[in-house]
Amino acid sequence: MEAVRKSYGHSVVLRDVDLEVPEHTVTALIGASGSGKSTLLRCANLLEEVDDGAIFLDDEEITDPRADQDAVRRRIGVVFQTYNLFPHMTVLENITLAPRRVHRVPRAQAEERARELLTRLGLADKAAEYPDRLSGGQQQRVAIARALAGRPRLLLLDEITAALDPELVGEVLSVVRDLKEQGMTMVIATHEMGFAREVADQVCFLDGGVVLERGAPQEVFGAPRQERTQRFLRRIV
Ligand code: ATP
Ligand code: MG
Repeated sequence: MEAVRKSYGHSVVLRDVDLEVPEHTVTALIGASGSGKSTLLRCANLLEEVDDGAIFLDDEEITDPRADQDAVRRRIGVVFQTYNLFPHMTVLENITLAPRRVHRVPRAQAEERARELLTRLGLADKAAEYPDRLSGGQQQRVAIARALAGRPRLLLLDEITAALDPELVGEVLSVVRDLKEQGMTMVIATHEMGFAREVADQVCFLDGGVVLERGAPQEVFGAPRQERTQRFLRRIV
């Protein structure tokens, strides 16, 4: 991501954001509410159009107007704070919907992949359940399975534990830990500083749409260079 700029009306939300996400690494985006974390993720997934700058995935400029947006979105999985599962569909149907309808994967193949993911995420026995019969943590794990169904190159996670009861946060974070172990490239917006510190290879502190500080977790959390980062971390911990 190079010199990305994004405004809503007169308010500038991202100011010349440069961010490099190496393959098989985890990047944590931290910063106060309104600092631009979600906007950055939405731009990366082309849910929002950038005003200026460029975003690359595997050396291809995805912000190029000629880029195939559907193909790009297929390579990027997204999970939001609220799970957005379809309530009238079973877990299996939720996970196989996009592969079958959008990517034209045959049903048997899509279901095999879905069951494999459910097993990996500890939900093998929930395939036939409807979302409202699952706990928040289970629903969020289904949302992660759905994001993984198309074998994305990159996974964007936006505050995926924020809506969960505290006792359910752990099971979702442990899924993220496993994905990291398997080499999944991820960008995670989070208010869970302890988790960011543990799981991230690089931490970006956003402040008013600017990447004010970026580095290894031990640098950003242990010895923040910027006064504003220090103040933010003091307030949080
Ligand atoms: P939080 O920690 O609360 O999730 P955030 O860092 O994700 O915050 P963003 O959601 O990216 O912050 O919002 C950044 C700024 O952009 C905020 O000032 C917000 O009001 C503004 N904003 C976000 N989406 C829109 C929109 N669709 N229209 C207008 N302004 C928006
Ligand atoms: Mg947000």
